Amino acid sequence: MEPLITLRDLQVTLDYLATIHRELLALPPDLANLDARVKTTEKQIAEKTKALDTARAQILVKVKELTQAQKDEDRARAAVKTTSQKVQYTAAIRELDEKERLKASVARPLKALESTIQALEQALVVLEKERALAQTQFDDLYTIFLEEHANQVQARKVLQSKQVSLEKKLTPAEVARFHRLAAARHGRVVVAVENGACSGCNVKLRGPILFQLKEGKSLITCESCQRILFLS
Ligand SMILES: [Zn+2]
Repeated sequence: MEPLITLRDLQVTLDYLATIHRELLALPPDLANLDARVKTTEKQIAEKTKALDTARAQILVKVKELTQAQKDEDRARAAVKTTSQKVQYTAAIRELDEKERLKASVARPLKALESTIQALEQALVVLEKERALAQTQFDDLYTIFLEEHANQVQARKVLQSKQVSLEKKLTPAEVARFHRLAAARHGRVVVAVENGACSGCNVKLRGPILFQLKEGKSLITCESCQRILFLS
């Protein structure tokens, strides 16, 4: 049966691809270390960038508060200048004192935020440099690694184009179903029947299913795990 042959071929192709993929992911220690360093710095950069965004948002609020406090203080100072009566003058001075205190209480956290932002910006420059350096070192070594694994890289290319041509023989729905099952069943979609049982899930197949399999007229799937079956 044509589709079954294609599906079995596809299964074998994807099995080889998975093996090659694992080999190409098995980085030697020095490369793995560099890879980890790149990822760690990327994480630190993301954290610091987020902190910087927060601090910048806070500073906008504080700047507005300070502008308002400055206006209040100016108004109080003007009031002091225009007041001549003694009682009112004392009150105006007290008001000015109060406004000056308020302004100082806004200005202090603003200063702190400004130095936080400066520190974060400097840290980010350093981290960016570290990340770029680790990435360059990784890329150089990885190029060598891929050259050493040229056979796998070549085989992967061949297998990938084989996968494409096999999938063209199937309907889009069949391809989608295959990959859905592959994702759910650890990559094993097309499995042999062994001793009357599905070798994917080891559940015994019912008589009628075995009969249909022997007839070979249509695609038969395991009733228990939905894998596609074939007689070995
Ligand atoms: Zn099964």
